[in-house]
Amino acid sequence: MYADPIDEAAARSEQMIAVALANRARPQMAFTGECHYCEEAIESGHFCSADCREDHERMVRAEQQRKLS
Ligand SMILES: [Zn+2]
Repeated sequence: MYADPIDEAAARSEQMIAVALANRARPQMAFTGECHYCEEAIESGHFCSADCREDHERMVRAEQQRKLS
């Protein structure tokens, strides 16, 4: 899958960062009764599905990258 061990290490640490971000507490996110990504009505949490959570994370990360660069 990864011919270069350096690429593999980079991909692995990138994934570890992604998992850490996904599991990080988000006190800045208030419960609104809606999915923060697609605005579907939900009973608890911040997202209606893991997909929405992932898409939202990706969106937030893309925004952070824009700010950094
Ligand atoms: Zn959703």
